[in-house]
Amino acid sequence: MIPKSQIVDLPVYEPGKPIDEVKRELGLDEVIKLASNENPFGYSNHVREALISQLEHLPIYPDGASMELRGILASFLGVDGDQIIFGNGSDEVVMLISRAYLQPGTNAIMASPTFSVYKTNAAIEGAEAIEVPCIDGAHDLDAMLAQINDKTRVVWVCNPNNPTGKMIPEAELVKFLDQVPSHVLVALDEAYSEYVTDPAYPDAIALLKKYRNLITLRTFSKIYGLAALRVGYGIADQEIVDKLNRVREPFNLNHLGQTAATAALSDQKFVQDCRALNEAGRNQVYAGLDEIGVKYYPSETNFVYIMPEANPREIFNEMMKLGVIIRAFPQAIRVTIGSKEQNEKMLTALGTVLGRTVQ
Ligand SMILES: *Cc1c(COP(=O)(O)O)cnc(C)c1O
Repeated sequence: MIPKSQIVDLPVYEPGKPIDEVKRELGLDEVIKLASNENPFGYSNHVREALISQLEHLPIYPDGASMELRGILASFLGVDGDQIIFGNGSDEVVMLISRAYLQPGTNAIMASPTFSVYKTNAAIEGAEAIEVPCIDGAHDLDAMLAQINDKTRVVWVCNPNNPTGKMIPEAELVKFLDQVPSHVLVALDEAYSEYVTDPAYPDAIALLKKYRNLITLRTFSKIYGLAALRVGYGIADQEIVDKLNRVREPFNLNHLGQTAATAALSDQKFVQDCRALNEAGRNQVYAGLDEIGVKYYPSETNFVYIMPEANPREIFNEMMKLGVIIRAFPQAIRVTIGSKEQNEKMLTALGTVLGRTVQ
């Protein structure tokens, strides 16, 4: 058989080991996972009640247009319903954008490091991924602009950026948008927008009115605590949403996901509480990292990018043995902000591991 040539050498995504398996292997009673930026505070009680009420509906296909969720989300955001495209997680919206706009002979521009899904999807479509190094963890928007050519179809901007946690302020983003040619799609991934506390964070919804080539991606997987149910969305001009709908599968959003997301929106107090708890947790983690004496970027998200001098892979392995699962990158580690107790455990483990390794 002859598969598409561009997929043959793609790395297969390796999910982290389930916590229970790690516990058994290492003989530990308690293992915490601070690797995937999940919400340590769970999800709203409104969601629990709404889901229980829907358990009889499993034999029925979901609403392929997500009408109820669409209406409620549109009024929450102050946009029209037909400006929203839903995805099975915002991961799927990344895929829809790539499917609709990329093909061999075109390119997509993105930062490095950034969310790896942009590059994988460009590769699957046979398009070139042009990676522009970050400066101190921040997008180098001028260098990204300079890479745009007549083959460019999409520029990915992750704000705040995963894995570095750095945010692009509104003035800088506007300056960038003003210079991007109007036929190039700017995909602004705001998976962590609800965690941002810096008032200079752009109001992407307002920017959509002026920039017709902009799409903003958000998700219910992070602050809303619904990662298992896979609900993400993009907000854009109707013309873009129309193109994405053409490559979307009819029932990409399941019924429980639609139900849960609708209920989650009705509990903004939960979101505010999580944002405040996360901010306190960030400060707790900064204080601990300062005490350990390791370098990190201050973050606008629910994770922190830490740059130790020791080998990240080794730190990952040693922390795992102490019951703390984190994420290793080539030059850094990334830890999710957990509950107060989880942060304490993570900091103790990191301090122990770095104290042992020759720096
Ligand atoms: C987690 C994450 C997403 C995707 O989340 P979904 O669960 O697919 O909605 C998208 N972008 C970034 C930058 C993320 O970190």
